[in-house]
Amino acid sequence: MNLIGHFVDGKRVGGTSTRRGDVFDPATGRRTGQVELASAADVAVAVEAAERAARTWRDASLAKRTAVLFAFRELVNARRDRLAEVITAEHGKVLADAAGEVQRGLEVIEYACGIPSALRGGFSENVSTEVDSYSLRQPLGVVAVISPFNFPVMVPLWFVPVAVAAGNAVVLKPSEKDPSAALLLAEWFAEAGLPDGVLNVVNGDAEAVDALLDHPTVRAVSFVGSTPVARHVYQRGTTAGKRVQALGGAKNHMVVLPDADLDLAADAAVNAGFGSAGERCMAISALVAVEPVADDLVARIADRVAGLRTGDGRRGCDMGPLVTAAHADRVRSYVEAGVAAGAVAVVDGRDVTPDGDPDGFWLGPTLFDRVTPDMSIYTDEIFGPVLSVLRVGSYDEAVALVNASPYGNGTAIFTNDGGAARRYQHEVEAGMVGVNVPIPVPMAYYSFGGWKASLFGDLHAHGADGVAFFTRGKVVTSRWLDPRHGGVNLGFPTQT
Ligand code: NAD
Repeated sequence: MNLIGHFVDGKRVGGTSTRRGDVFDPATGRRTGQVELASAADVAVAVEAAERAARTWRDASLAKRTAVLFAFRELVNARRDRLAEVITAEHGKVLADAAGEVQRGLEVIEYACGIPSALRGGFSENVSTEVDSYSLRQPLGVVAVISPFNFPVMVPLWFVPVAVAAGNAVVLKPSEKDPSAALLLAEWFAEAGLPDGVLNVVNGDAEAVDALLDHPTVRAVSFVGSTPVARHVYQRGTTAGKRVQALGGAKNHMVVLPDADLDLAADAAVNAGFGSAGERCMAISALVAVEPVADDLVARIADRVAGLRTGDGRRGCDMGPLVTAAHADRVRSYVEAGVAAGAVAVVDGRDVTPDGDPDGFWLGPTLFDRVTPDMSIYTDEIFGPVLSVLRVGSYDEAVALVNASPYGNGTAIFTNDGGAARRYQHEVEAGMVGVNVPIPVPMAYYSFGGWKASLFGDLHAHGADGVAFFTRGKVVTSRWLDPRHGGVNLGFPTQT
């Protein structure tokens, strides 16, 4: 049995906890390993290693830090296929999709290679007579990154390169469902020259997360996962005095206006609805068709869905399995609930014949039409290959529907009317907006994050927000004495 442990202080280690989680190949249903589930004591060992490393890493020159980042970038780039294979083996997404995830992670490493520019402060000469002021950004110390199952490489890479480049030491707690990729990243970072203890990986579940949230040495927590856990992480972490950014779940809407290019919209709906079996926080799960386009659009989507091949991600299929048997059962129960509530199952994923092992965690793409806002397939984040079409009569109705959602991660509008698109981007309550782009994931030099129940905290991931999150500001006011200094003056300092 492949026993997956931790990576602490520059090497793979086992913990003291005897609790284990099962790791599966979702395309075969077979258990391929067990992951150690860290105790609070195991977490403390990693935090202590990070604390020791942080003391010297904060003083490593920018040149030294970026040299490590550049070397790490080269290693990940050269080994991207290996990483994609590991993702597919434990997550199930098809290889091409896993490679795309690696690419998006690489882009953040590349952004972090430019950290000297991002960390530059400001300088003002003569704010008062012969007094200068300048600003610095300094690292926080030890920070924690807690990631979800659906992007085992990209989400850790949203945070770790920026945190490390800014001079922090990190304890990463990956999802216990697909823990192996994070360990590879840590090994490769070490190979690139990162000193021992600057990046540690602790595998585990809620117990490890709570231990990180409670540990006084951990100064900040970047979390990505479902909304209830994100809320918990935010509340517990901030109560303990930490800086927290907690990215939560989503229900992303795609609005299609009557003047849209319907072939483009249908392609986009299929790609964004069923890519990665709908297990993306930016997946489109609600398509809002502004009449009279719904009949035509649904027919075009159904046509395309009929051509999708669901199966083993190593066989060139379009869509892989769901991550676990329990998750596949949960999504299937939503399909049943949709049918029972009166939605029209235009394509029913329960009927799929997969190109893969019969014991895999299969569910095919499901397309529901005539979904109404009270149905659970609409209100809940299903996180599976289920696309719901809601019909509305006008643009205003569409925006009102989208803005009534408790989530506000991503959204898209499909139209050829620039004025309508501009109005939508202005009025819609979501953190990331696509105009004729269904999955508007910002590039690494912008910041990724949603609004409302999709993000607790203020700062988004990577880009300028990421740098701000992993550093704290300091302003220095300095005077170098010269013979003209002014002597005692108890008045409040003002500019003179
Ligand atoms: P999850 O919330 O179950 O788990 C996320 C992390 O929290 C894991 O590391 C897990 O071990 C830990 N965890 C789970 N339960 C916990 C608890 N009770 N207390 C403390 N920690 C706990 O999420 P998931 O199923 O791994 O990932 C899917 C979810 O993540 C979806 O809701 C998806 O929308 C969301 N997600 C959001 C974004 C975003 O950018 N907003 C990105 C990716 C995924």
